[in-house]
Amino acid sequence: MSIEKVKCLIIGSGPAGYTAAIYAGRAGLKPVLYQGLEPGGQLMLTTEVENFPGYPKGIMGPQMMQELMEQAARFETDIRSGFATSVDFSGEVHKVIIDETHTIEAETVIISTGASAKWLGLESEKRLRDSGGGVSSCAVCDGFFHKGKDVLVVGAGDTAAEDASYLSNICNKVYMVVRRDEMRASKIMQARVKNKKNIEILWNTVTEEVVGGQVVEAARIKNTQTGEVKELPISGFFVAIGHQPNTGIFKEYLDMDAQGYIQTVKGSSRTNIQGVFACGDVQDSTYRQAVTAAGTGCMAALDAERFLAEKEAMAVES
Ligand code: NDP
Repeated sequence: MSIEKVKCLIIGSGPAGYTAAIYAGRAGLKPVLYQGLEPGGQLMLTTEVENFPGYPKGIMGPQMMQELMEQAARFETDIRSGFATSVDFSGEVHKVIIDETHTIEAETVIISTGASAKWLGLESEKRLRDSGGGVSSCAVCDGFFHKGKDVLVVGAGDTAAEDASYLSNICNKVYMVVRRDEMRASKIMQARVKNKKNIEILWNTVTEEVVGGQVVEAARIKNTQTGEVKELPISGFFVAIGHQPNTGIFKEYLDMDAQGYIQTVKGSSRTNIQGVFACGDVQDSTYRQAVTAAGTGCMAALDAERFLAEKEAMAVES
């Protein structure tokens, strides 16, 4: 296995990773960034991004990621395709194995591997998501495209309740499809959706298919108690059944919450391992926005730079 030593390794290529790269690159750390399995991250699945400051006319998600990548490359980030398959954070130098074949020995590691939305797994869901036809996992990103129309939200947790509430302010009607006869969401969030006149909760209901060729036209749903199947005409199909942080390979070393999100020291990007930092959705189950991910990416690069400067100063003193 080949071995390479680097000052700053960034794992992941969403807004957090590329922003960390821009800052680390400009600080002269010559960062190496591995893009991971989904180069560009979740924004590659989005159509138009209208809420990222600085784009008054909006920008397509993939285009934004391309520009972030170019900006990172401009400041000497070595951007590579490859996937971190395992890590060893037991020593002072952190080892990260790429594609099971290449070992990186890094003085600092910035983890920005993100989180992936969970999906129902229907063929029609995937097709209309990939084509930007109205299937989305981000109400805040895509709700506006359904202004004044009818939409559907799948899920019954806080995210689904929050999404339904948010959409109810923009859309004509919001159907909330709940698979059981109760919701997992907190009482206050449940009360909020139940009190909205234009939200209809469909209990004991599952989605059989998203209907539509180019764009979403309806959802075929089934009541699991009565067996009744019907088609609801909608223009937007929002899936809010949870996210999975991409943290499997770090479990042995890093403190995480019950859902697997990396825990950072409040007000910083520091993890429980010195020299290892986390930014973006991998450590944030609350906000999950491109702009907050970018902000924490900046924090991680500054934290890594300070860590290296302190280490160097200590080495000079001793
Ligand atoms: P959760 O895991 O809490 O909820 C997921 C929901 O999706 C559950 O209701 C679950 O149903 C449903 N679900 C899962 N799989 C399927 C499926 N295949 N078909 C239909 N329904 C399905 O995820 P959230 O994203 O809602 O929340 C994650 C965490 O973030 C939670 O801790 C939450 O409290 C927190 N959060 C807090 C917010 C706030 O405080 N403002 C806002 C958003 C999130 P079932 O109940 O039957 O398992």
